[in-house]
Amino acid sequence: MPSNDFDFAAYTAEITAMTLSGLARAVGAPAIGETMARLAEQAETVLVTNMTAETTELTACGPGCSACCRVNVTVLIPEAIAIARYLTADLPAAEVAPLHRQVEETARAVRWLDDDERIRADIPCPFLDRRGWCTIHQVRPLTCRAITSTDSQRCSEALAAQAAGDYAPLLANLFQKFLVEQTFRGIAAGLAQRGLDDTGRELTRSVGRFLASPELATDFLAGQRIAFPD
Ligand code: SF4
Repeated sequence: MPSNDFDFAAYTAEITAMTLSGLARAVGAPAIGETMARLAEQAETVLVTNMTAETTELTACGPGCSACCRVNVTVLIPEAIAIARYLTADLPAAEVAPLHRQVEETARAVRWLDDDERIRADIPCPFLDRRGWCTIHQVRPLTCRAITSTDSQRCSEALAAQAAGDYAPLLANLFQKFLVEQTFRGIAAGLAQRGLDDTGRELTRSVGRFLASPELATDFLAGQRIAFPD
């Protein structure tokens, strides 16, 4: 099927249904992580099967290109829970506190910055390693997956222009971008239909909260509003 004919409304409804059925069985952070992994896998499968020959090679984003990992990233709460779970699943308890501190430091530094201000301040995502690779690539936020530049050079130029208060056009693989954005919306709709918090929140602040208190995942599933204190 060519991507031009793709039925985004039906796809979004499918993601909402998958979210509802996945979370209906979930009782804690591991089950939330599994549900989010299934949803990301579904997005990847649909993406691969609906790419045309023209669009397959378009996206230039790849491992080691971290040019855009200096902007604010919005996540849904289940994404934050899944990331915190992924980060700590095999981590000795003594290493969780330093990781939490590092994430919180970034959260405080970016707290009141918009994208332009953060790019100018050059504050990278704390999940980048020294090589510029995303250490949570497997569970990275949908917002990150929706960045689909077709030219890494132009991407860097656009960010440099933004830091200087200027503008440079950025070309993107729009099919992939829309598909991932609809995945985000489909999941948010599922959360809302189940009476759960569907608010988008800043990545580091949210992940930091669940690194500090993983048990809050159960409260979230029970429909409680999780507080994110300053
Ligand atoms: S989560 Fe990964 S892809 Fe997203 S901004 Fe951070 S390092 Fe970059």
